[in-house]
Amino acid sequence: MHELSLAEGVLQLIEDAAHRDGFKKVSTVWLEIGQLSAVEPEALAFCFDAVTRGTVADGARLEIITLPGQGWCEVCARTLPMTELYGECPDCGVFPLEVTVGTEMRVKELEVS
Ligand SMILES: [Zn+2]
Repeated sequence: MHELSLAEGVLQLIEDAAHRDGFKKVSTVWLEIGQLSAVEPEALAFCFDAVTRGTVADGARLEIITLPGQGWCEVCARTLPMTELYGECPDCGVFPLEVTVGTEMRVKELEVS
């Protein structure tokens, strides 16, 4: 399952940060996810709960921030909003647009204690 490996990746980032910064407990995790990354936030939250049991992030609240997708049209030389991974340019019809924002996932902030 896609979300399970993502949740494990997030936990890895948290554990790296805990090791680096020396905190013992995470209470909230703000996670940025691109709109085009095909992640189900609810499924990810469920997997996150499961993989963090017994870790520094046990019981942590997961706040998911969705980043709107953006693409670049070479022909029109401009940035366009994108709502799906394979979009075409509404002006010149170029397909598919090159995705510039929307497929990434990163931990934006951790609330620790
Ligand atoms: Zn175009």
